[in-house]
Amino acid sequence: EGVGAGGGGTRFDLEKETELRFEVEAGEKVHLELLTGLAEVFGSELNRNKKYTFGPGSKIAVFTWQGCSVSLLGKTEVAYISKDTPMLLYLNAHTALEQMRRQAERDNERGPRVMVVGPTDVGKSTVCRLLLSYAVRLGRRPTLVDLDVGQSGVSVPGTMSALCIERPADVEEGYSVQAPLVYHFGSTTPGTNIKLYNKLTSCLAEVFSQRCEENRKASVGGCIINTCGWVKGSGYQALVHCASAFQVDVVLVLDQERLYNELKRDLPHFVRVVLLPKSGGVVERSKDCRRESRDEKLREYFYGFRSALFFPHAFDVRFSDVRIYKIGAPSIPDSCLPLGMSQDDTQLKLVPVTPGRDLTHHVLSVSCADEGEEGAGGVRRGVLESPVCGFIVVTNVDTQAQVMTVLSPAPRPLPRHTLLIMDIRFIDLK
Ligand code: ADP
Repeated sequence: EGVGAGGGGTRFDLEKETELRFEVEAGEKVHLELLTGLAEVFGSELNRNKKYTFGPGSKIAVFTWQGCSVSLLGKTEVAYISKDTPMLLYLNAHTALEQMRRQAERDNERGPRVMVVGPTDVGKSTVCRLLLSYAVRLGRRPTLVDLDVGQSGVSVPGTMSALCIERPADVEEGYSVQAPLVYHFGSTTPGTNIKLYNKLTSCLAEVFSQRCEENRKASVGGCIINTCGWVKGSGYQALVHCASAFQVDVVLVLDQERLYNELKRDLPHFVRVVLLPKSGGVVERSKDCRRESRDEKLREYFYGFRSALFFPHAFDVRFSDVRIYKIGAPSIPDSCLPLGMSQDDTQLKLVPVTPGRDLTHHVLSVSCADEGEEGAGGVRRGVLESPVCGFIVVTNVDTQAQVMTVLSPAPRPLPRHTLLIMDIRFIDLK
């Protein structure tokens, strides 16, 4: 291992059931090539003699069941081979799920609904990706439900989404090129509005169940639900809510025995709760690192990726042509609430936003909500429960002229006029 390979790279020879872990230095790129044998990155197989490129900050594991040799070219922060991985346990989990799918197929039932939980940085997203890739490689069509509003693997941060998986994640790009069903949450932590978070979880569960009724493959494929790392207090309650909304059959708890015991105690007895170790390769990410990866996700949304570069459009939108809302009024003491109104109502209330300078750099979701229909007081119904069709960023606000300039993936005009403001900001440096 670690000897010079052709093309100036460093060659690593891996024995079976080991993995090469590496991190790409800030501002650098690393090229990976499979020279001999078979290998995979988080469940997606590598092709021989193809160069895979990973950007700054990427944390990658190349795992091999059979043994292989690979070469790395570029500046890595660390690069080492580990023989100590929980991959066999993860494979066993996949095998058990596949048995459940087979049984579902035979008995005309539905396939496994799986929730993956654990604190932050234990490899939840990675385990989800692995299980999905293994399932799809066997011809299944599982659904990924991503409830991690901080680090969505599917859409931009601040969203909750579902995606029918038809092929393994792209080794370099993940799931970024497919078309998901996305809901606006608006911030990077469920705690900002737990009522909304739980409501959107229920919405996704309902849409998924409907799809299962219409589509046998989706039903047998089941779903893998990725959750947030907030596992205490309301965060824990949100997990219990999710388990019931999706009627999950299996909960995979990564790394935390306490959480495992709590869920075993609180979930119905027929739910299988399984404790799995985390991989030693999972790297803890700092706050800055998380922020950077959120920024990167937004940049990708507007500018695309290497294989598909986008050229976003900048144009002016008149205030009078759109309606901007924030979901959730600031909480006020119970005694001050209007008669017949509860705190729940305020958390799910659409609050009109008057555009001002402070809107600059905010990300706005473009809601698919029906535009015609208006309820009491001009408040639209169904906006909360409607998916979004895209995102824009406000780059400038001119209160005098009553217009704002936006960055949008598509040219003007905006497809819809109901916009939902996120806490999340994106500063366009291009
Ligand atoms: P979580 O979803 O629990 O926050 P992730 O699955 O996103 O955790 O993993 C955190 C980071 O660790 C990611 O950047 C991922 O690419 C990396 N990672 C996961 N497993 C490994 C591994 N075996 N070797 C190296 N890096 C890994």
